Amino acid sequence: MVLKTAEEIALMRESAQIVSKTLGMLASEIRPGVSSLHLDQLAETFIRDHGAEPGFLGLYDFPNTLCVSPDAQVVHGIPTNTPLEEGSILSIDCGALKNGFYGDHAYTFAIGDIAPETQQLLDTTKASLYKGIAAFQKGNRVGDVGHAIQSYCEAAGYGVVRELVGHGLGREMHEAPEMPNYGRRGRGKRFQEGLVVAIEPMINRGTKRIKQLKDGWTILTVDGQPSAHFEHNVALLNGRPQLLSTFQFIYEALGIESDEETPFEYTGAAP
Ligand code: MG
Ligand code: MG
Repeated sequence: MVLKTAEEIALMRESAQIVSKTLGMLASEIRPGVSSLHLDQLAETFIRDHGAEPGFLGLYDFPNTLCVSPDAQVVHGIPTNTPLEEGSILSIDCGALKNGFYGDHAYTFAIGDIAPETQQLLDTTKASLYKGIAAFQKGNRVGDVGHAIQSYCEAAGYGVVRELVGHGLGREMHEAPEMPNYGRRGRGKRFQEGLVVAIEPMINRGTKRIKQLKDGWTILTVDGQPSAHFEHNVALLNGRPQLLSTFQFIYEALGIESDEETPFEYTGAAP
């Protein structure tokens, strides 16, 4: 587990905020008829214009800037020319590399009007992300975060994906520790000051079981029901979780009011 100084965490926040702004830009472009490949091209240009490199492009040979996963796709979907459809959802995961540090975060968007039960899946998955972040406290352990997410989502009857997990973040996209979205309280590695993690619940409306397409990337639900994915980058600084990423650029684009991030506001090394 690589612990970061407050100065390094400030640099990591720059990388995370570039991803946040990219997702905010995309929020204004997402509508029925637009293709995910078009969104991917917009994102790549935007990231490079902000002095960063796309974090996913070429990583493990991934072919694009964005992972775009509609409906029953969980994560790691590859952009295509297919127009987005009204009533769908689209999970967008994006990475950026600047000053040698990665940012990595994700949001699931509604395409036009969606069914109430699908909106419920999005709301619950996002709420579970903040339950997980709240458990990322000094003295707590990896299992505390996983337990917070799992218990909240399973109480709603949803499936918590097991095979894919959150992770430490820094000069590598994936650092120790692994951060499962399930677990037992008081188990696993203990969190330490200066740890930066990506917390990212991947939650299915139906079964937790998943499969992979023959493209070697796309993960989807076995039962064809929708799946949601929300991800933030969080630093343990001054003994409390501080958000390096933000959904506020998305909310500004969509006209959403939210104070969900307030308890986890970034203050840096100041108390
Ligand atoms: Mg991600
Ligand atoms: Mg991640």
